Amino acid sequence: MNDNDNNTLQQLMVCHHCDLVLQKPPSVPEHHRVFCPQCHHKLLSHKPNSLERTFIWTLTALVFFMPAIFLPLLHLDLFGQSPSSSVMSGILALWQQEFYSVAVVVLVTSVLAPMLQLILLSYVTYSLYFGHKLPGLVRVFKAYLELRHWGMLEIYLIGLLVSVIKLIDMAEVVVGIGLFSFIALLMAQIMAVFSMDAPLFWRLLEQNKATTKELPQ
Ligand SMILES: [Zn+2]
Repeated sequence: MNDNDNNTLQQLMVCHHCDLVLQKPPSVPEHHRVFCPQCHHKLLSHKPNSLERTFIWTLTALVFFMPAIFLPLLHLDLFGQSPSSSVMSGILALWQQEFYSVAVVVLVTSVLAPMLQLILLSYVTYSLYFGHKLPGLVRVFKAYLELRHWGMLEIYLIGLLVSVIKLIDMAEVVVGIGLFSFIALLMAQIMAVFSMDAPLFWRLLEQNKATTKELPQ
């Protein structure tokens, strides 16, 4: 698939209710929503201050990233022992117990992919928000969108909550600061995705690309 095909695809959208394929509007004006002409299902709504809010939520998520990964999620009081575990120490324990492939999958989906995703999104939003022309913005944004399939923080959190519920009868479980950071990270990441007006981002990226090309060499 070449760049032109990619651009044509990005200008189209599908109604998830009735599968109608239609042209994406360049932007949604304030207080407006876009409805499907066939089934009248809501397709898009205006997202005020999208760029600014996406940038702030992405930075917030980055601030919580290190504490969420390295600080203890839980403290257990189990048969006189009191182990505590963070995301990173869990991955190391899996590796030491020779569950190599599981350790790598958890490392990629819970640490590397989400972190890279946040770094790429902050690069794009920083550049668009402050008007700094950083190189490779379109490619970085596409890489960010691709990586969204790899980050699985929410699944990690669900697994963690299930184990807390199971352990509650067997041991005294005290929630660690890592878990609060993890929840804050997840919330900030979800807010960043909800704040993002993708058609607006594409439009700004295209404008940015066009003006960069016009600059004298
Ligand atoms: Zn529809």
